[in-house]
Amino acid sequence: MDVRRRPPLPPRAGGVEPVKQHQRNHPKASDALPLPLYLTNGLFFTLFFTVAYFLLHRWREKIRSSTPLHVVTLSEIVALFSLFASVIYLLGFFGIDFVQSFVHPRAPHDPWNEVVRPTRRQNDVVKGSGSRLVMPINISHLSVPAMPEQEDEEIINSVVSGATPSYTLESNLGDCRRATGIRREALQRTTRRSLEGLPLEGFDYDSILGQCCEMPIGYVQIPVGVAGPLLLNGEELTVPMATTEGCLVASTNRGCKAIYASGGAHCVILKDGMTRAPVVRFNSAVRAAELKFFLEDPENFDSLAIVFSRSSRFAKLQGIKCAVAGKNLYMRFTCSTGDAMGMNMVSKGVQNVLDFLQSDFPDMDVIGISGNFCSDKKPAAVNWIEGRGKSVVCEAVIKEEVVRKVLKTNVAALVELNMLKNLTGSAMAGALGGFNAHASNIVTAVYIATGQDPAQNVESSHCITLMEAINDGKDLHVSVTMPSIEVGTVGGGTQLASQSACLNLLGVKGASKESPGSNSRKLATIVAGSVLAGELSLMSALAAGQLVKSHMKYNRSSKDVSKLAC
Ligand code: ADP
Repeated sequence: MDVRRRPPLPPRAGGVEPVKQHQRNHPKASDALPLPLYLTNGLFFTLFFTVAYFLLHRWREKIRSSTPLHVVTLSEIVALFSLFASVIYLLGFFGIDFVQSFVHPRAPHDPWNEVVRPTRRQNDVVKGSGSRLVMPINISHLSVPAMPEQEDEEIINSVVSGATPSYTLESNLGDCRRATGIRREALQRTTRRSLEGLPLEGFDYDSILGQCCEMPIGYVQIPVGVAGPLLLNGEELTVPMATTEGCLVASTNRGCKAIYASGGAHCVILKDGMTRAPVVRFNSAVRAAELKFFLEDPENFDSLAIVFSRSSRFAKLQGIKCAVAGKNLYMRFTCSTGDAMGMNMVSKGVQNVLDFLQSDFPDMDVIGISGNFCSDKKPAAVNWIEGRGKSVVCEAVIKEEVVRKVLKTNVAALVELNMLKNLTGSAMAGALGGFNAHASNIVTAVYIATGQDPAQNVESSHCITLMEAINDGKDLHVSVTMPSIEVGTVGGGTQLASQSACLNLLGVKGASKESPGSNSRKLATIVAGSVLAGELSLMSALAAGQLVKSHMKYNRSSKDVSKLAC
């Protein structure tokens, strides 16, 4: 239900009194008692002490008169029954609460005075995440939802006034969808800006808790188009692309058509290893060099690999490349990570090794588990040269007839343009891995559709596109070489419903049971194959001078953009 449809309550000054408010609005178990609670409690206390006194008195009498204890009068039976009843009542009323105060201690800072039992889903997410950045929600102490039936309007006011921190809504309410609606409404009121157009309904907010996004207020819709069939390594694939750039899917689709008509593309994984490079500091460059030699000594590799793999059966150490800068040492660990993209997995393995090294190198000062020699989400020559994630090469031979009929250009024009644009032009620009026409367009669209980390498009889009005339200049040999495609089919955004559906379309959803890692490797080949299609099509459009014309047709449509600008 939309929070705005709830009947508004009069606003209260000075924050909330959630417990009192809750009691005012909602019936409690004690309401069923014939007497007020304090009178009922008093009655049972009195009963307990009275009958206890009476029974003790009778006991003393029986001992004095040598009467057997099991011979009881009617009044003693009634007294015993009353004692039993009052014990049950008092235990139920105070005992359970007393025990619970040890089992689930209340958070003293919690403005709602209670914490929440997470849904089963929430528990699963936090337990299962073990890897990606996990939201710091401590749910071990959670018991019952705090004021789950409190009016939304009241909670919104509490968030607006600052009495309830917005980030506590999920854990306090135990209902992610409701928390999102309340946060969103509170935000609209505090900013006085409308969020109309940003959808709220139709999304499973439980699925992102502690895993994908904090403080949600809705979700952004990105259209998903398909390009294909992409004939890659003998298999026909339909590639989902999430984008708002007109022409992109159509253009990639045209490239797929050219590849298909020419017999398909072939793709090979050259390397598969995720990297993490911590930086450590010593008191001297000599000591930094000593650790470098220790790590690079083949005799030490096996023991380091065992230590590295302690935190995951999928993390297999492949090598450690070291770089010394003065007293500082950068150690670039490379490992295979199964079907996971692997950043968390490799980080955990690196931490294991750092802990292990500390005994032999107690003077090693760990400055950071990531020292940027990794290098994640930044353009860096180390990725371009050494590779990161999956290093892939993909090629196709496009027949002269297909170049002419489908791509509307000719082989010589394409080869010349590629040399002057993607090679010479990029060299003139001082490009780093940018020897291509628009690899990042395709990489990013496929990444968003399939739940990859779109920020990794920086290095994942490193690509050199080569074109060469073959078969006496008649046909075109085209290839893309991409050394750092960082993809996974488990973890992160891949488990969300939409992204998972796109992975399913490609037949690479989740972990591969037969051969761990084969799903993510196949996804990397699909990324490269799609880039090959995109490169072919855009380069052809440029060679034929069609770029502006097709963008005017598909990208700008009939809308007058100047009228849209503020
Ligand atoms: P990342 O390291 O990319 O951040 P996560 O650690 O979030 O990825 O996800 C990987 C999780 O999935 C790990 O907990 C791992 O044990 C589990 N897993 C299950 N099957 C596989 C598989 N075939 N390959 C890799 N990880 C797998």
